[in-house]
Amino acid sequence: MNVNLKSLVQVLHADWIGTDGPVLIEQISIDSRSLQNGPQTLFFALSGVNNDAHTYISELIEKGVRNFVVEYIPEKYHGKANFLLVQSALDALQKFAAHHRNLFNFPVVGLTGSNGKTIVKEWLNFLLSPDYNIIRSPKSYNSQVGVPLSVVAINEKHNLGIFEAGISTVNEMEKLEQIIKPTIGILTNIGTAHDEGFLNLVQKIDEKLLLFKDCPVIIYQKNEIVDSCLSQFAAEYMLHPRKLFSWSYTDPTADVFILKREIKDEVTLIQYQFKKENHDLEIPFSDSASVENAVSCLLTLLYLEYDAETIQNRMQGLYPVEMRLEVKNGIHNCSIIDDSYSSDFQSLKIALDFLESQKKNASKTVILSDIFQSGFSNEELYFKVAQLIADNKVNRVIGIGSTISSFKNKFSNCLTYQNTAGFINDFENLNFANETILIKGARSFQFEEIVFLLEEKTHETILEINLNSISHNLNFFKSKLANNVKIMVMVKAFGYGNGGLEIAKLLEHHKVDYLGVAFADEGISLKNGGIKLPIMVLNPESTSFASIIQYQLEPEIYSLKGLNAFLKIAREKNLKDFPIHIKLDTGMHRLGFEENTIDELIETLKGNSTVRIQSILSHMATSDDMKHYDFAMSQIRLFEKLSSKLMNELSVNPIRHILNTSGISNFPGAQYNMVRLGIGLYGVSNDASEQKYLENVGTLKSIISQVRTIPAGDSVGYGRRFMAVKETKIATIPIGYADGISRLWGNGVGYIRIKNQKASIVGSVCMDMLMVDVSGIDCKEGDSVIIFGESPTVTEIADALKTIPYEILTSISQRVKRVFFR
Ligand SMILES: *Cc1c(COP(=O)(O)O)cnc(C)c1O
Repeated sequence: MNVNLKSLVQVLHADWIGTDGPVLIEQISIDSRSLQNGPQTLFFALSGVNNDAHTYISELIEKGVRNFVVEYIPEKYHGKANFLLVQSALDALQKFAAHHRNLFNFPVVGLTGSNGKTIVKEWLNFLLSPDYNIIRSPKSYNSQVGVPLSVVAINEKHNLGIFEAGISTVNEMEKLEQIIKPTIGILTNIGTAHDEGFLNLVQKIDEKLLLFKDCPVIIYQKNEIVDSCLSQFAAEYMLHPRKLFSWSYTDPTADVFILKREIKDEVTLIQYQFKKENHDLEIPFSDSASVENAVSCLLTLLYLEYDAETIQNRMQGLYPVEMRLEVKNGIHNCSIIDDSYSSDFQSLKIALDFLESQKKNASKTVILSDIFQSGFSNEELYFKVAQLIADNKVNRVIGIGSTISSFKNKFSNCLTYQNTAGFINDFENLNFANETILIKGARSFQFEEIVFLLEEKTHETILEINLNSISHNLNFFKSKLANNVKIMVMVKAFGYGNGGLEIAKLLEHHKVDYLGVAFADEGISLKNGGIKLPIMVLNPESTSFASIIQYQLEPEIYSLKGLNAFLKIAREKNLKDFPIHIKLDTGMHRLGFEENTIDELIETLKGNSTVRIQSILSHMATSDDMKHYDFAMSQIRLFEKLSSKLMNELSVNPIRHILNTSGISNFPGAQYNMVRLGIGLYGVSNDASEQKYLENVGTLKSIISQVRTIPAGDSVGYGRRFMAVKETKIATIPIGYADGISRLWGNGVGYIRIKNQKASIVGSVCMDMLMVDVSGIDCKEGDSVIIFGESPTVTEIADALKTIPYEILTSISQRVKRVFFR
C-alpha cells in the first residue's frame, strides 16, 4: 500500500487538520500496542464501549506515529500530527477498505455461513495456491473490523482473494459486502442453532445472503429453507443475472449430486454427478462437517473449471486446520507460541503482535520458514520481513528453507538452515533457554517436529485457557463501569487456578489499573515475570514486609499492629510516601479496621510521610445474594462513613473500592473509584442470567489411557463400589483427586464428556485416575476427553458437590499443565 494521505480526505469524507507536506501511508493500524506502528502508519482511533483509542494518541505521537483518523482531536495535540476528523472511525476504516478493494479487479471469493468459513477459506487457499497469488483473511478475521483489515492488505501482485464475513446480528452484512465485493459467493453450513442476534433462521439466512447482493454466483448446499430465501433474494436483487451453483446428498436436481458416501479408515469416498458424468473423490476425513467443507471446495474448483483428476489429486492433501495461536511451556524456561501451520506475510504481522503481548521472557526468538504467496517479489518480501522483525525487536531469527537462507544477510542475528532436518541436527547447539519463541512455518516444513522438541513434556492432562474469553469477560465487566472507574483484577491463587503470570500479562496488555494477590510471594513471582502493573497484597504477613518493599508491592494494612510493624520497617529504610491500602471491616469480619479503631488509625497516620494511603477498601459478605440486600447496603453505608472520615481528617483523596464481581453486577451505585474483579474474569457468574454473557475460559482435558469391556457381575475400582449389571465398556482416564477432582464427584454422581457424549464416572475417583462408563460411545485409547469446560461447567460440578465454583477452579493441582491459546 502506498497512499497519499491527503487523497483520503475525500474517500473518508473527513475534515483535514494537518500540515501541508505530502505524506505517504504504507500501512494502517488500530492497535496502539503494536510495535509495528511508525511514521508511515495511518492509525484509526476506534472507540468502543470498553476502550477508546483516542486516549493513546499522545503515547503514539511520542512513538513517532504522525497520522490519525479521529472522531475528535485531543486538545493539546493540535498541530503535532495530521488528523483526519470523521464522525466514526470504524465507518472510515470500512470506507477506506471499500475504496482499496475497488482498485483491484480479480476474482474474490466471499464466504459466509455459521460453521466452516475459516476451514473452507484455508483449504481453498491450499487447493488454489499452485495457480494463483492469493490474498486471504488471516486467521478468522471476519468481523466489522477484521474484514477491512484483511482487505487493505491486497496489493498489485495478488490475483485472487478469499475473505470470510462473520456477522452476529442484522444490518452488519451490508457493510461487509461493500468491502469484500465477492465475485464468487460461498454459503457454508448455516447451522440450525438459534443465534442470539437473530429472530429466527430465515432472518439469519437473509442477512447472510446480503453478502452476495452483487455476486454473479452463489455456491451452497441445497435445502428448502435456503432455496426459499434465495428465491426471495433473487426477486429483490435482480441487478445481474446470477448463477446458483448447488450441491446435495438427496436432491438430484442440484448441480452436483452426491450419489454415494462411504467411510473407510478415516477417509470418506464419495461419488458425485456433475454435468451428467459420475466421478469419484476421496476426502481424507471421516466426520461429516469436514466432508461438507470439502464439498464446498469441490464446487468452487468445478466452477473455476478444474478437471476431476486435478481436484482429486489436490484434495488428497487436505489437512486439519489449526486456527489458534497456542502458547505452550517450553524446555529450559522458554515459552513457545505455536503457529506451525501457516506462513504468509499477513499472519506473520499478527503473530508478531501476539508474541509481543505474550512474551514471558525479555528475549524474543522467531523461527520462520520460507514464506509463500506474499504477492511480493522475494527481494521485496524478505526486505519487508526483516524490517518487520526489526521493528518488533526480535532478538534472534532462525530461518529455515532455501529461499529465506539466501536472504540471510537482510536480517541481523540470523541463523539459517536449508531445511527442518538441518535445524533438528543442530538443535543441541542452539541452547534454547529463557526466551519466548514464535514458531511459524508453512505446512510443508513440518514445524510440528520443532514444536515437539521445544515443548516441555508432561502427562496428558491439561487445563486449556482461552485468552480471548478472558478478554471478552473483562470487556463485559468494563462495560458496566461508570466513566473513570478503575479496575483491579484479582489474580490470587494462580489466577483462580487458571495461571497467574500469563493472565497478568494479558491484563497488563489490556491496561487494567491494578492487580490483587493474596500473599507477597504471589506478587513477587509476578514482578519477577516482568509485570509492571501495581500489585496490592491482600494478606501481607509481617515477615514479608521487607520483600514487599524490595519488590515494590503494595500491602493491604488491616490492623494497627500491622501498620506499626510496617511503619517501623519503612522508617528504617527511609521510605517516603510508600503506597499502602487501608482495609476497613464493614461487616465481613475477616480482615480490616473496625469502627472503634479508626481514631487511633488517624492518630497514627496524621503527619506521617513514610507511607501514603493509596486506597481505602472494604469487602462485602453478601454481594451475590439479594436476600441480604439490607445487610449489603449497611456495609456500603458504613464504608462511606468511615472512608469519608479518614479522608477528611487526614486530608487525603485516595482511591476507594468495595465491589467484587457480584458487587459490580448488583450494586452499580457503589463503584466509587475502582472495583475488584475476580471470578467473573474467569467466566463464572454467581447469577444465572448474567452467566450467558460470559465466555468459558478453562477447559480441563485429558485422554483415554485404556478401554476394556467387563461382563455383568464384575466390579470397577477400589472397594468394588461399582458393580456392572450388564456388560459394560470402561475407559480409564489419568486424572484423580491429586489433580483436584473431588472424590465426591465419583460413584455415579459426576460425568466427563467424550465425543460430546456423557460418560458417567464409575466407582471411586483414585489418586491419579478415574474410570468412566463408555458403553455406547465410539471411543478408543488416546481419544481426548473433557473433564469440565462448556459441559459440564464448573458451576454445575460445584452445585452437585455443594460447594462454589471458586473451590473447583482453585483445586486443580499445579501438576496439571496449563496451555494458553487464543
Ligand atoms: C477474592 C477477592 C475479590 C474478588 O472476588 P470475586 O467474587 O471473585 O469477584 C475481591 N476483593 C477481595 C478482598 C477478595 O479477597
